[in-house]
Formats: sequence, structure tokens, C-alpha cells
Amino acid sequence: CIMVLAIAGCGGGDNAPASSSSSSSAQTGGKKIGVAMPTQSSQRWIADGKNMKEKLEKLGYTVDLQYAEDDVQAQVSQIENMITNGANCLVIASIDSNALVNVLEQAKANNIPVIAYDRLLMDTDSVSYYATFDNKGVGVAIGKYIEDKMGLKEGKGPYNIEFFAGSPDDNNAHFLNTGVFEVLQPYLTSGQLVCVSGQTSFDAICTLRWSQETAQKRMEDILSGYYSTGKNLDIVVSPFDGISYGVSAALEGAGYKVGQKWPMITGQDAELMASKNILSGKQSMTIFKDTRILADKCVKMVQAVLEGGQPEINDTTSYNNNKKIVPSYLCSPVPVDKANLQKELIDSGYYKKAELE
Ligand code: BGC
Repeated sequence: CIMVLAIAGCGGGDNAPASSSSSSSAQTGGKKIGVAMPTQSSQRWIADGKNMKEKLEKLGYTVDLQYAEDDVQAQVSQIENMITNGANCLVIASIDSNALVNVLEQAKANNIPVIAYDRLLMDTDSVSYYATFDNKGVGVAIGKYIEDKMGLKEGKGPYNIEFFAGSPDDNNAHFLNTGVFEVLQPYLTSGQLVCVSGQTSFDAICTLRWSQETAQKRMEDILSGYYSTGKNLDIVVSPFDGISYGVSAALEGAGYKVGQKWPMITGQDAELMASKNILSGKQSMTIFKDTRILADKCVKMVQAVLEGGQPEINDTTSYNNNKKIVPSYLCSPVPVDKANLQKELIDSGYYKKAELE
């Protein structure tokens, strides 16, 4: 049901601003919105920040956009400064979802509404709404891609597989991983998938801060520890394009070559480099999360908390942050591989054809 609602709300590319900029300007009266983003080291967050700033400014808001380069304390300080500088609303994509409890108390004491952007803010009741993608759906889509392309339903295998998960302090990483294992666990049990390293628990496969370097090192260790005796690695579950780059670098270092027993490698975010890697065969697929749509939904939440009214919500059960169930809008993730890259990424205007050449 959630998926159906999300598709209905998101799939149509509903990019129209809620109202015209001139009339909104008078209405919004230059209210200040603090937008706290995690890092510029990954392309998606740069796009998220840019979209949010543009869309909010178009409505007449003043925007203070900050990136904390994955430094948790720096993000806390940035949010404190936003509060001190008189922000009327905060939009936060956290680095560590649990680390902002105190600063969010300050926001609450100053009557500043908070919206969680993409990543849920945990352990706090100082969050009004949550705009995100269906994070478990991302994992399910990755799992189903593998199931489909490797013919698992038809009984094919056994295939050797290794798993990577995202950052343990990011709620999304857990949801995604649950989705992946929901689809693939039966094939591990049946023996059609074999995790040679035996590393399948979240604690064993997670990657702090979704770090490419950490993933590369772990992949190198797995290849030298478990695959040096001629075993071929067939599938790597990667939950983020940055992790996929680290995995690929480790594989190349171990002598694997694209097109010659190169494993299926998944990803997430449809970064430009990942998209090029899909075209060249280095990466098999990614999950496209259209940040333009996410920003639209989030901006509507900002308008609702500041100007009144109800924002669009399509999930009121999935996201319990240990203090409350946060009313959410889940956008739909779209799996992309060589077959539909043109349609999803180029025809939709997300990338220009020339950027991919
Ligand atoms: C986001 C993903 C992103 C990851 C690493 C997650 O919270 O949902 O889209 O790939 O962070 O930045």
C-alpha cells in the first residue's frame, strides 16, 4: 500500500512549486530556513542542498545551507548557530542520527520546527515530519535485481556473494539491509548463494560513514583472506555508489577485470560516476533517488509548519524514532541498469547525455 501511494505521489515528476514566487514571497516574509547537510564528498548531498536552497529561495525564504563534512560535532555547531541566528525552521540530514538530541532540544525550546531530510532523527520528539525514500524498498529492489538477473527463482547457483551495509549510525542503513536480506536470505539458506567470508551480520558488514576507503580495505581483506585460492566472487551487494567504487578498486587490485568474471556489483544514488560505470560494465546497477522530488516534498513540509496546513504524508507507521512515529513522505526509489539508464537518467533531465560520455 505504501509503495502504491509513493508511486502515485512521486513517479509523476511533480516538480511544480506550490505557488508562484511573487505571492509566496509576501507570505513567507523572508523567514530563515537552516538546511544542515552531511557532506559534500558525495554527489547526491550536493544536489540535495542545491535543490532545497533553490526551491526555498524561489518561495521567498532565506536559506542558510551548511555542510559538515561528516564531522558530527561540526554539524551540532552548525545547527546551534542556525538557532542563535534566528532560524524559523530547520531541515536536517544528519550525520549521526542519534547525536543531535541535545541541539534539537534547543530548537524545541525556541519553538523552531524541525524536518528530518532523508535520514530519520532518532531519540527525539523535536521532529515534525520526515521526507525520505522508501529505504527498505531500496534494499528490496537491490535484492530483487540480484534474484532476477542471477536466475535465483529458477534455481540457478551456487554463486559466491559478499555483503556491504551502510553506516551503523544512519537509520537508513538498517532499513536498507533488512530489505536486502528479506529477499536474499532464503537463497543463502538454500545454498544458491554462498557468502564465503561468512560475514552476513549487520555488525560485520556495516561501513562507518559509508566510507569508500573503509569498504575498499574490507573488500581487499575479504579477497586475500577468502578468495586467493581461485574461488571467484560472483556478486557484491553494495548499498551506495561510493562503496561500489571502493569494492571495484579492490577487485582491480586483486586482478579482476571488467568483462572477465567481474562480479555483479550493486549501488545506490545514481551518481554520475556510477552511471558511467554502469555503461562501461564496471557496476551492474544503482538505485536512482530523484533528489528533485525529495526536495519538493520537503519544501511542502516547511511550508506546512511555517504557513499552516497539512503537507503530503504517505506513511504514518514505518518510522518510529524511539520517541514518536514521525509522519513521513516516502518517495519511490528506481532501480537503474544499462537497460533503462537512458530513460530514467537522461530522458528525465537528471543528467545530460554529454555528461555521461
Ligand atoms: C542515503 C543514501 C546515501 C547514503 C550515503 C543514506 O542515508 O539515504 O542515499 O547513499 O546515505 O550518503
